[in-house]
Amino acid sequence: MVSIKKPSQLRMVDTPGGPLTYTLAWKAVKNLNLRIKAGGEIAISVPLRYSIRQADDFVREKSGWILNAIALLERQAEPLPPASREECARRMSEALERVYPLVAPLGVGFPSLKLRALKSQWGNCHWAQGYITLNTALARCPEELRDYVALHELVHFLHHDHGPGFYARMDVLMPDWRKRRRALKGYTGALEKEPSRKV
Ligand SMILES: [Zn+2]
Repeated sequence: MVSIKKPSQLRMVDTPGGPLTYTLAWKAVKNLNLRIKAGGEIAISVPLRYSIRQADDFVREKSGWILNAIALLERQAEPLPPASREECARRMSEALERVYPLVAPLGVGFPSLKLRALKSQWGNCHWAQGYITLNTALARCPEELRDYVALHELVHFLHHDHGPGFYARMDVLMPDWRKRRRALKGYTGALEKEPSRKV
């Protein structure tokens, strides 16, 4: 059989648990095959006769199962080795500097940064006083998760609570923030083990 190979494509579907992004590939296989990679990426290969819509519907129907499987994978995340005080401070300022340009055009002033070993929060925003606090345990999380928390706190200068306006703004500035938030859950062990210290 000679078939014209359809190129694989990245799809996004809305599910009750939030939007899910997956890679869709057509292959000469009999059945749909779903794989969740170590980083939480979703890859689906389908027989050549499958339509995009059939694949999307599958993801929507199985979204609960998929999200659980991703959460399980992420629970096993291994934190980066402990960082020195200076290295920790450097990583955190870098995260703030990386994401600040996203909110600068919206009138947010560059905030002061405080680092604390918080027990139950990755960060918080003291919008009235003009500073944000980031958890020192973030130094042991991957860069993209530090960026997510830094941006989350910056957006609180614009939207003080977690209302629809806050999430709409996050969707625009960092479209994959939900994926990062899920990944961050895998690092709560780092949060608990962090020695109490001020930087
Ligand atoms: Zn918040």
